[in-house]
Amino acid sequence: MDTKRYALSFLKVSLELLGKAREIADKLDGEVVAVLLGYEVDKLTDTLIHHGADRVILIDNINLKHYTTDAYTKAICELANEKKPEIIFIGATYIGRDLGPRVAARLKTGLTADCTGLDVDDETKNLLMTRPAFGGNIMATIECPNHRPQMSTVRPGVFNVPCADYARKGEVERFNVDIKEDDIKVKIEEIVKSMKEKIDITEADIIVAGGRGVGNKEGFNLLKELADVLGGIVAGSRAAVDSGWIEKDRQVGQTGKTVRPKLYIACGISGAIQHLAGMQESEYIVAINKDGDAPIMSVADLAIVGDLYKVVPELINEIKAY
Ligand code: FAD
Repeated sequence: MDTKRYALSFLKVSLELLGKAREIADKLDGEVVAVLLGYEVDKLTDTLIHHGADRVILIDNINLKHYTTDAYTKAICELANEKKPEIIFIGATYIGRDLGPRVAARLKTGLTADCTGLDVDDETKNLLMTRPAFGGNIMATIECPNHRPQMSTVRPGVFNVPCADYARKGEVERFNVDIKEDDIKVKIEEIVKSMKEKIDITEADIIVAGGRGVGNKEGFNLLKELADVLGGIVAGSRAAVDSGWIEKDRQVGQTGKTVRPKLYIACGISGAIQHLAGMQESEYIVAINKDGDAPIMSVADLAIVGDLYKVVPELINEIKAY
């Protein structure tokens, strides 16, 4: 499980997966087991139980302090070989995308990558894993009927973080894996902090997104100003990304990222189905568009018909004066 800041330092997706796992386990009459890997991470077990785990398996080892493919694969495979889980979910983060296929290959099973939907077939009880296929043109639902465990990496932001229940009780089990330094082929010599701050739009509570209607790269400075006064971050539609106005890792939508912020402000975005797929679960949507009939207006909680170059500066001034 990836650890970074969220609740007591988990990536949101870890908790989102617990919520979905809970739903699926209830349908299968099974239990939800969270696997926590790292070094001196035992303080985090309660958060997992409060968010839906029946049991936490803790693999605490100095050689798991930093992520390496070899050590994490070895730990999860040894655990899976002993416990024989029916299903393994991993967040489709950079780490999860590296780890998932390696684990699946070692366990000689399949993996459905980057899932955006998960369910159970009522008759066969197999896991139904849905993901965009053929460049996002169709949604494919994939089953793994003959091999166990059924494995998927799951896109961050597609499921809700379940509400924490602080009264929930669960077990914590330690699992020891003998990981030697020699097991790890890649040696970490030094960790250098990126000069550019890494922004993950799936973790943001407030997003100001721009589309083709912004017109040029400079226009995104205005959106950044609005995002800054609100304490949010800037994202964009594919049209804005393809025009080179904003980085690809800020793209919202079917072939970008799925986001569910508390507030999503869409500026000059028409609301094509592929864009809506990535943001329509946001808690509160504000759309600013010259065209009152643009599809984005029908999913907006607040639709502002007007030129974003007039509306956004007024919004910034109002917020500053507030
Ligand atoms: P447009 O559709 O051109 O809309 C621009 C909007 O700006 C218009 O509604 C216009 O009225 C408004 N406007 C113009 N000037 C102003 C102004 N001054 N003030 C206010 N409003 C103004 N798209 C994504 O976003 N994300 C994806 O992940 C994605 N994946 C895709 C996958 C596939 C397989 C395909 C086929 C397409 C995908 N697309 C995706 C593209 C998608 O279909 C749309 O083309 C794209 O979302 C359009 O971006 P847009 O809304 O910024 O631009």
